[in-house]
Amino acid sequence: MVIKCEENKIDILSLTLDELTDEILKLGEKKFRAKQIFSWLHVKNVSSFSEMTNLSIQLREKLEKVFYLKPLLICKRLDSKVDNTIKYLYELSDGSHIESVVMEYSYGNTICVSTQVGCKMGCRFCASTIAGFKRNLLPSEILQQIYTAKSDSGRDISGVVLMGIGEPLDNYDNVVCFLQLLSCPDGFGMSLRHVSVSTCGIVPRIYDLSKLNLGITLSISLHAPKDKSRSEIMPINNRYHLDELMTACRSYFAHTGRRISFEYALINGHNDSYADAKNLAMLLDNFMCHVNIIPVNKIKERGYTSDRKSAYKFQQYLNELGVNATVRRTLGSDIDAACGQLRREYEVSES
Ligand code: SAH
Repeated sequence: MVIKCEENKIDILSLTLDELTDEILKLGEKKFRAKQIFSWLHVKNVSSFSEMTNLSIQLREKLEKVFYLKPLLICKRLDSKVDNTIKYLYELSDGSHIESVVMEYSYGNTICVSTQVGCKMGCRFCASTIAGFKRNLLPSEILQQIYTAKSDSGRDISGVVLMGIGEPLDNYDNVVCFLQLLSCPDGFGMSLRHVSVSTCGIVPRIYDLSKLNLGITLSISLHAPKDKSRSEIMPINNRYHLDELMTACRSYFAHTGRRISFEYALINGHNDSYADAKNLAMLLDNFMCHVNIIPVNKIKERGYTSDRKSAYKFQQYLNELGVNATVRRTLGSDIDAACGQLRREYEVSES
C-alpha cells in the first residue's frame, strides 16, 4: 500500500514487493535492488537504511530522502516470572502507545498484536476501549510490532494473533495489506494458517474476508448466546444481531472450509449459567467450530469477575451438550498481559 508519511515520504515497510519495485524503477535503479531492500526490511528486519550494507552509500542516501522508515520505540518491556510471556509497550512516531504480547507455547512463540490505537467498539469488559479511539495502525506499524519483538527478545515468532488493542475488521484494508506482507515468500514468509484474526463481529467485513480465502483462522468474540445479553456488553450487537453474525460465520466456513473459533469471556452472573450454555449450544448447533472460554480479566473501571473454576464448570456444561470447548490458558498473569491494560495504566499515570 502506498502511504505518504512525514515530509511526504513513502512508508516503505507498507509497500508490497511489486509496489516497492515500481518505486525503485522510478528512482532509475535496477529492479533487483527492490528485492534486496525488501529482504533487508522483511527478512533481516533492519530499522534503518544505513544497515543495508550491500547497497552503495549514494543509494542509501537516496532511499533516506524518498522513503520513511523509523523503528518502534520500546517504552516498556515486562517479563513474566511465571511463564515466559513478554509484554511490550511501544511508542509510535506520533507519541501514541500500543501493546504486543509474546507468548511461549510448546510449538513456538505466538505474538498478539494491536491493530488500532484505542478502539471504537465499546465492549463493556475491555480495557482497550475505555479511552476511546485515536487512529488506525498502518500495515507497517502492525508488522513492526512483530519485527521489533523478534529482534529484541531474540525469539523466533511462529504465530500471530490479531487480538491486541483495536478491532482488526474496523481497519480492514490495512490489516489485509499487513497479512499480505507478513505472508510474502520474499519477506517474513509466515503461513497464514498460523495467523488468527479476532473480531467482535463486523458482518460485512466477514463476507469480504471470506472472499479473499486467506487461510487465516477467524475468531469471533461472541461472549453471549442471546441478543439481549450480548447487546448489554457489546454495542456492536445492536448493529449486527446474532442471526446475521451466525449467517456470516456459516458462509465464511462454507467458502473457506476453515473452522471458526468462538471466544467466550465468562462473566460471573452474566453469561455463565447452564441456561447460557444451552442457548450457546443451540446457537452453534451443527456448526463446525470451537469455543474458547476465557475467565474475564478484571479491569479496574468495571466490576466484572470470573475464575477458572467457573470456566471449567461452563466447559463441562458445553461438552455435555456436545459443543467442543476449551478453557484458554492464562499467560503472563503477573504482568497484566491482557490487551489494553498496560497502555491504559501508562496513559492514566502520565496525565
Ligand atoms: N476487537 C477484536 C480483537 C481485540 S480483543 C475482538 O473483539 O475480537 C481480543 C479478545 O480479548 C476478544 O475476544 C475480546 O473480547 C477479549 N477481551 C477483551 N477484554 C477482555 C477481558 N477483560 N477479559 C477477557 N477477554 C477480554
